[in-house]
Amino acid sequence: MSGRIVVLTGGVGGAKLVLGLMQLCPPQAITAIVNTADDFRHLGLAISPDIDTLLYTLSGKANAAQGWGREGETWTFMDALKSLGGEDWFLLGDGDMALHVLRSHLLASGERLSAVTARFAAAWGLGLSVLPMSDDTVATHVETDRGELPFQRYFVEQRCAPAVRAIRFEGAERARPAPGVIEAIGDPETRAILIAPSNPWLSVDPILAVPGISEALKAASAPVVAVSPIVGGQAVKGPTAKLMGELGLAVTNRSIAAHYADMIDALLVDERDGGEGLAIPYAVTDTLMKTLDDRARVARAALDLAERIAG
Ligand code: GDP
Repeated sequence: MSGRIVVLTGGVGGAKLVLGLMQLCPPQAITAIVNTADDFRHLGLAISPDIDTLLYTLSGKANAAQGWGREGETWTFMDALKSLGGEDWFLLGDGDMALHVLRSHLLASGERLSAVTARFAAAWGLGLSVLPMSDDTVATHVETDRGELPFQRYFVEQRCAPAVRAIRFEGAERARPAPGVIEAIGDPETRAILIAPSNPWLSVDPILAVPGISEALKAASAPVVAVSPIVGGQAVKGPTAKLMGELGLAVTNRSIAAHYADMIDALLVDERDGGEGLAIPYAVTDTLMKTLDDRARVARAALDLAERIAG
């Protein structure tokens, strides 16, 4: 297949789709634009959870069962940290630490996050472009029934238990798209722009909140196709469905389509839910990605839908 494929992605759900794309297209043809509003400073370290999930997943290092971190991880650092009374709500494995330490060091010496990310992807032999949405700091804050929480306190420490009332992306209005982001979206060689089945409110919205990105999507000549994160009226994993309920939305593809209304040309939905009542073009398939073949099948269905829209 020729032409460039651009994917907007968060962590786990998005990484599955990108891995599927890598079964179909040469990696050089793929550009992943990754949410960095989950990034935070912890123990002085710069942590980029969604970028790392993508790097681990695509290089075959991810702990798929756990859903985060590395396979075969060891925990000497964490044990020692705990013994010293250090904060232990956010787990950092020994191997995982290497990314955070090196990234923090490179950022402190003036390298941009986009350059650090490209360096890591190249070191692990990944041929695709992994672009942070921005090199500037954007931080998700969740307004909940227990007060306002920085994203990782809500997501990891409190396990998404508080009820969400609103979400804001601190710094987004001043952030600039990272080098290559707008170029990839507007590239005449780009034949499809996919929005991964990542959490629309927590993983994709921060990307769309960076000034210039949603404008570029609307102006793009390539079709924009989202893959719904809803499977059988529920989220596959994580707080998407709970969050939708708390925001007063039905957990349906209509809600997903309405959320992306002026941004997407089509929606790929799961066969358990179907697309009845959708006002935009859609296709139906089994979107549950358990195996590598499933990932490739969903990626193929998303590209086919984009091709159909392009006409
Ligand atoms: P995070 O940043 O690691 O929380 O992950 P993402 O935002 O990328 O992905 C979370 C979303 O992915 C959830 O809403 C899930 O419903 C969705 N998701 C995860 N696995 C699958 C899958 O196999 N198929 C579909 N359609 N959605 C999935």
